[in-house]
Amino acid sequence: MKEYDVLIVGGGVAGSVAAKFAAKGGLKTLFIEKKKTPRNKPCSGIQFNYLEKIIGEKVPPSRLCNNQLDRIEMHFPNGRHVTAPFAMLNFMRKPFDDWLNTIAKEYGAEFRDECEYVRHDETSDHVVVTVRTGGKPENDEQVKARYLVEATGLMPAIRKIIRPCDFSAKYTGGALNYYINGTADLNPRTLYQFWNIEWNNTMFAWAYNKTLDDGKDYWVVGTGCNDSNIKERQEAFYKHVKEKFHVEGEIVKKEGYTVTIDLLSKDRVWLGRERVLATGDAAGLIDTVRGVGMDAAALSGRLVAKAILKADKNGTNALDEYSALMKRVVKQTRDNQKREIGEYKTNDELQAHLNKHMAKTGIGMFVQSFLNVFRSAEQQKLLPP
Ligand SMILES: Cc1cc2nc3c(=O)[nH]c(=O)nc-3n(C[C@H](O)[C@H](O)[C@H](O)COP(=O)(O)OP(=O)(O)OC[C@H]3O[C@@H](n4cnc5c(N)ncnc54)[C@H](O)[C@@H]3O)c2cc1C
Repeated sequence: MKEYDVLIVGGGVAGSVAAKFAAKGGLKTLFIEKKKTPRNKPCSGIQFNYLEKIIGEKVPPSRLCNNQLDRIEMHFPNGRHVTAPFAMLNFMRKPFDDWLNTIAKEYGAEFRDECEYVRHDETSDHVVVTVRTGGKPENDEQVKARYLVEATGLMPAIRKIIRPCDFSAKYTGGALNYYINGTADLNPRTLYQFWNIEWNNTMFAWAYNKTLDDGKDYWVVGTGCNDSNIKERQEAFYKHVKEKFHVEGEIVKKEGYTVTIDLLSKDRVWLGRERVLATGDAAGLIDTVRGVGMDAAALSGRLVAKAILKADKNGTNALDEYSALMKRVVKQTRDNQKREIGEYKTNDELQAHLNKHMAKTGIGMFVQSFLNVFRSAEQQKLLPP
C-alpha cells in the first residue's frame, strides 16, 4: 500500500493550492482528480487580483481570457445603474485549473487524474482510502495517508458519507450560463451585474465576455438561484439582456450546475473531523453574497496545508490549527449566509436594502482592496468585505 502524508481529493482550486503548499512544505502529497484533465468546470472564472497573492503565483497571460475586466456596471431593480472602474482577472477554468495542477506537480506533489475517491476508514493516526482509476472497480487501490483533505467542490464526496445530514434530497440551488457567438451593445472589459429577484434570488444575474478553447470571444449571460426555477429565471433574464443590449447570435453552449448542500443549514460551513479536513466549496465556503468562491477555496487550500505543517511541528491537532487559521473566513461566510438576498420578497424590498448598503459596500471594496496590497497572502480580506 502506498503511503503519503496527505491525500487531497479534488484537483480544482482548493485541491491544487493545498497540494502546492503541502508539497512545498515537505509533505509527501498525492492529489487526485476524478475527471480527465484538463477538465471543464462550470464557473464564471472572474476573480479579484488578490487571488494571485493567495496562490503565490502570477497567472500567465496564456491562461487568461483575451479581455480582462477593468469595470463593473451594476443594474438595479428600479432601472438605474452605476458603473465604477475595478480591475479583475477573467479566465476559463479549464486552462486555469490545468495551470494550477501543473504548479502543484512542479513543487513535488504527485497527481493522478481520472482517479476518484470511493471510501475511507479512519484510525487515530491515519486514514486508508480506496481510490478508483478510470471508473473501473477492478482498478481499486488502497492508499494510506496521515491526513485526508476533501476538496471535491459543490458535490462533496467525503462529506456526503460522513455527514449526510448536511444535504437535501432536492436541489437547493443552481446556476446556468449561455455562451453566445454574436454581437451585443456591451463592453467586453466590463462585468455587468443585474440585481432583480425575478432573475436571481440569491445575488445578481450577470453578463460578460469569455474566450473559449477555439481562442474566440463569446458573450456569456447567466444567473443562479436557491430554488429549482433556474431555467425560467435564466430565460426571463436572457430576454431582458437581448432586448436592452441587442444581444444577437447563436447560443453555442449552455452550462449549468446544481447544488445539494443545504445552503440554509447553520452547519453549512464544516471544516472536518479528526484527520479529515474540508476545503473550498466542500467545506461550505460558498458565499452567494460575495458572488465568488475561488478566493475562499484557494485560501482554505493554502491554510489547510499550513495547519498540517504547524500540527506536525508543534505536536498539536491539525483540525484545531486549521479552525484557528480559518476563523475570519468562516465568520465572514456565516455572517453573509444570514444576509443572502433570498430574504427579500419583492424588488422594492431589495432596492431599499441596496439603497441602504451599496455605497458603504462600494467604499469598503476600494478601501479593503487597497489594504490587501499591503496584507500578507494569508491575511487577505475577501471581497466584497
Ligand atoms: C456557475 C458558477 C459560476 C461561478 N462563478 C464564479 C466566479 O466568477 N468567481 C469565483 O471566484 N467563483 C465562482 N464560482 C464558484 C467557484 O466555482 C467555486 O467556489 C470554486 O470552484 C470552488 O473550488 P473547489 O476547489 O472547492 O471546487 P471545484 O473547483 O469544483 O473542484 C472540485 C474538484 O473535485 C473533483 N471531484 C469531485 N468528486 C471527486 C471524487 N470523488 N474524487 C476525485 N475528485 C473529485 C471535481 O471533478 C472537481 O474537479 C462559480 C460557481 C458556479 C457554479
